[in-house]
Amino acid sequence: MNATSDIHTNTTTVSPTPVSPTPVTVIGLGLMGSALAAALLDAGHPTTVWNRSPEKAKPLADRGAQVAATPEDALAAGDLVLACVLDYDALHSVLDPLAANGGLAGKSLVNLTSGAPEQAEEMARWAASHGAGYLDGGIMTTPPGVGRPEMMFLYSGSEEVFEAHRTTLATLGDPLHLGAEPGLASLYDSALLGLMWAAFTGWLHGTALVTSQGTTAAAFTRIALRWLNGAVSGFVTTYAPQVDAGRYPGDDATVDVQIAAIDHLIHAAQARGIDNALPELLKSTMERAAAAGHGGDSYASVVEVLRGDRR
Ligand code: NAP
Repeated sequence: MNATSDIHTNTTTVSPTPVSPTPVTVIGLGLMGSALAAALLDAGHPTTVWNRSPEKAKPLADRGAQVAATPEDALAAGDLVLACVLDYDALHSVLDPLAANGGLAGKSLVNLTSGAPEQAEEMARWAASHGAGYLDGGIMTTPPGVGRPEMMFLYSGSEEVFEAHRTTLATLGDPLHLGAEPGLASLYDSALLGLMWAAFTGWLHGTALVTSQGTTAAAFTRIALRWLNGAVSGFVTTYAPQVDAGRYPGDDATVDVQIAAIDHLIHAAQARGIDNALPELLKSTMERAAAAGHGGDSYASVVEVLRGDRR
C-alpha cells in the first residue's frame, strides 16, 4: 500500500462547522494532555478531564473544564475520548478496568500516547474487542504548539472515527489521516523524530565548528536555514523518486565524491578539537554504499545500505 497517497489533509475536504462543539473527554493531564484540553476549551468544546494526580486538573477547571472524579465518570461524559498518558502500560492501567465493565462500548478512542507501531496495532484490536472505534495519533509538536493550525497531528486507524471527529481534531492542529493501519501514525512519528535528531546533531556539529572561530550560532543558523530550505530540500525532492524507483543516477554528485568531501569536514573538526563521531558514522555508511557498488550513484543509493537485507 502507498500510505502517502491516502493521506487526507484538512485542505482536501471541508467539513461543516458543527452547531455545538462536540463534548470531549481528555484522559491524562501531563504537559501534553493539559495543552490538548486547553485547546479544546479555547475552541468551545465541553471538556471533561481526568488525571491520576487530581491537582493537575485545577488550571483547566479554572478555564471551564469539568473535572471527573474517576475515569468511569470521565468516559460517561461523552463519546469522544482523547488519551494522552506516559506510555501504553499507563494507558492500560487506566482503561482496562473500564473496558472490563463495558465502559468503552460505543466510544471513539483517540490515543495520543506515544508508542511503537505494534503497540498501536495491538491497542486497536483491544479497543475493537471492547466495542470502541480506535484512532492512533502522533503529535508533531510540543505543548506550546498545540492549537496552531500549522502543526501536524498524524492519525491512523479508523477512518470512520477520523471523519466523524475531523473538525474537533482540527482544533489541536492540522489533522492528517495516514491510512487505516493503526501503526502508521507511530511509524511516521518515529521516522520524523529520527530525521529531527539527525538534523539537530548535524546542525550542532556545524555550529560547534563555525563558532570555534568566533561566529555566533545565530549567524551560522541564518545561513544553515537557507541551505536546508533551499538546496537540501531540493536534493531530497530529487532523491525521493530515485528511492521509489530503486535507481540512483549519479548525475549531480556521486557517493565517491561525497566520501572525499566529508574528509574535509572531518579534518576541519579534528583540527578544532570537535567530536567527529557523527561525520565518521556518515563516512562509514557512504563507504559501505560504495563497497556495495554505489560509488558512482547518487547519495540516495545509501538507502540500500540502511535497508540491509529487508527489501
Ligand atoms: P508528562 O507531562 O510526563 O505526563 C505524563 C502523564 O501520564 C500524566 O498525566 C501522568 O499522570 C500520566 N501517567 C503516568 N503514569 C501513569 C499511570 N501509571 N497511570 C495513570 N496515569 C499515568 O508527559 P507528556 O509530555 O504530557 O507526554 C504524554 C504523552 O504524550 C507521552 O506518550 C509523550 O511521548 C507524548 N508526547 C509528548 C510531547 C511533548 O512535547 N511533551 C510531544 C509529542 C508526544 P500523573 O500526573 O498522575 O503523573
